[in-house]
Amino acid sequence: MHPLVNQLNESFENATAQEFLQYCTDLFKNKIFFASSLGAEDQVITHLLAGIDNNFRIVTLDTGRLFTDTLDLIQYTNARYKINIEVLFPDYIQVERMVKEHGINLFYENVENRLKCCEIRKNQPLKRILPGMSAWITGIRKGQSTNRKNTQLADWDDKNELIKINPLVNWTEEEVWDFIKQNKIPYNILHDKGYPSIGCAPCTRAIEEGEDIRNGRWWWENEDTKECGLHPKNK
Ligand code: SF4
Repeated sequence: MHPLVNQLNESFENATAQEFLQYCTDLFKNKIFFASSLGAEDQVITHLLAGIDNNFRIVTLDTGRLFTDTLDLIQYTNARYKINIEVLFPDYIQVERMVKEHGINLFYENVENRLKCCEIRKNQPLKRILPGMSAWITGIRKGQSTNRKNTQLADWDDKNELIKINPLVNWTEEEVWDFIKQNKIPYNILHDKGYPSIGCAPCTRAIEEGEDIRNGRWWWENEDTKECGLHPKNK
């Protein structure tokens, strides 16, 4: 655990997300980045960061299995905020080998295969940019899943040895959407078609109103395996 984690949590308990982000971007300078999935929460963070510094480093992962609407959103977001979201791609040799050995839709077979796919298409590309970094920003909220209920404003990311900055951790889903509407923030149009949480196309589906939002991702797995490794379970 890094000593700054507790300090940040205590100092910014009552601060706004904007104030917390402003402080963290000043503190970590070029040793902090934002990993955006282009989901609703992440679009809120992009909006806030663009208001602080439109050269701030925002990265996203093109796994090769995204919805076209998600790819389009990168373009709209860049244009709206005059930013240049950095797109990270997986190593094609690893992808080809995985598909040859396990099939194109290996993730439906078992959890091991699904984690392998997430590792190659998401975790490995992200790892390439971690050397030299001290902190990363995420759009995690406590309400997103039972695995995330103990997340704090700042957490220690043991796996990547970075401080994880979660400015929206205490926001409700309603607050996220109110903020998006009030500020006319571009968002993935799939949200209007019943997709609350959008990842890769084969691993994402629409849900019924009132259904748990995590039922829209990896629905064939148990709740406690439903993380991609980018954000392992929080206690
Ligand atoms: Fe592969 Fe699905 Fe993970 Fe995307 S979400 S990397 S398609 S297993």
